[in-house]
Amino acid sequence: MQDVVEKVYEQVVARNRGEAEFHQAVREVLESLDPVIAKHPHYAENAILERIVEPERQIMFRVPWVDDAGQVHVNRGFRIEFNSALGPYKGGLRFHPSVNAGIIKFLGFEQIFKNSLTNQGIGGGKGGSDFDPHGRSDAEVMRFCQSFMTELSRHIGPSTDVPAGDIGVGGREIGYMFGQYKRLRNSYDAGVLTGKGLAWGGSLVRTEATGYGTVLFAQSMLATKGDCLEGKKVAVSGSGNVAIYAIEKAQQLGATPITFSDSSGYVVDEAGVDLDLLKQVKEVERGRVSDYVSRRPGSRLVTEGRPWDVPVDVALPCATQNELDGEDAATLLRAGCAVVAEGANMPSTPEAVEAFLEAGILYGPGKAANAGGVATSALEMEQNAGRTRWDFATAEEKLTAIMTDIHDSCVAAAEEYGRPGDYVLGANAAGFTRVADVMIAHGIV
Ligand code: NDP
Repeated sequence: MQDVVEKVYEQVVARNRGEAEFHQAVREVLESLDPVIAKHPHYAENAILERIVEPERQIMFRVPWVDDAGQVHVNRGFRIEFNSALGPYKGGLRFHPSVNAGIIKFLGFEQIFKNSLTNQGIGGGKGGSDFDPHGRSDAEVMRFCQSFMTELSRHIGPSTDVPAGDIGVGGREIGYMFGQYKRLRNSYDAGVLTGKGLAWGGSLVRTEATGYGTVLFAQSMLATKGDCLEGKKVAVSGSGNVAIYAIEKAQQLGATPITFSDSSGYVVDEAGVDLDLLKQVKEVERGRVSDYVSRRPGSRLVTEGRPWDVPVDVALPCATQNELDGEDAATLLRAGCAVVAEGANMPSTPEAVEAFLEAGILYGPGKAANAGGVATSALEMEQNAGRTRWDFATAEEKLTAIMTDIHDSCVAAAEEYGRPGDYVLGANAAGFTRVADVMIAHGIV
């Protein structure tokens, strides 16, 4: 890294001690911005890097709630309002026991560039809690969501900060949070949350958007080589919202996804994933991947290792951060995997990213490849503001156009800065310059 960039990174590490994921996300962006900073010295002169790595606001709060047995629990809530240069803060809420300030900060930081890439006028933010919804009754989840929103409602609003879902936060949780927000404010601000139910302001295609968008991004990358997904074997990790709809779109495009996973292990189904069964198990029954295996002859559950041990042409990590390391990358490359598109945020470790870039395969980083979710959230906000609702085909057409545009911006930026085909540089440079230019226009704020 150049001196000026290295100095900013060192300051981030010193100021945000112990926040390893945040350091990792900042390092990845700063490293790839070297040629951008060299070409445009006014970014350094305006201290854009120093300002962009510091959240505009960080909120941390107590979330007390009572379980079904009457026992009191205390979780910690977070909202990081990272950057509002391009529009209201926008980014999901994650409910997972691993959540801490560093994880929310890494996600919020990534979100700035992702949202910029969508070109839809949305700033970057993220939030969540170390609450674990697994095994909790609907009533317990509701009480937790109500307590969480009681504090969060002071900080959000349709023109201020618009949260959505992420790991552990789906339609049920958004519903409970929206209900509480509406009660506290006495106001039906549909645009305050996205990922809402269709009957109360949600958008068609929002559920499918992140997974669909990731696969569309993979298809666009393949098209640059005159290839496509048809006939390709695909490994998917995760079995939540992103994974399920990545599998659906891959199947629609003629590929054969043969794996998915959760924290108990991964499933291999060589005949191709039975998507109806997977949806029944995960979406309807909220079960585990082992419930799929017990009802699907020929499939097997593997509790050691990762889906990346299975030889495939395409890998779609759709579970969580750092779920694909240098060794996994080497295994995938040895088996001939030539495309990786990230549905999850930062699923590949720095060693894995380096291996993919060195091998020159088609590697689409999450901030570009999984931007379809937030893009469709912005489409939901647009429909809420216009008090209208588009049909599925219209919303999907808009999502497809946005994903194509993001892909093409990455390609163009990678070429402009001298590394054609490097989607990491492309995504970071294209996302960064748009935010940086607006930050300069707004003055020192
Ligand atoms: P879900 O909660 O719907 O699903 C998460 C899946 O990943 C589950 O199968 C879960 O298994 C698995 N998983 C989570 N944490 C771990 C872990 N530590 N180890 C192993 N498996 C794990 O979340 P989403 O599908 O919404 O999110 C998945 C990823 O996509 C995240 O990185 C998220 O940030 C990213 N993303 C999501 C967007 C969205 O629109 N939802 C938008 C853009 C990115 P288990 O149930 O066993 O924990």
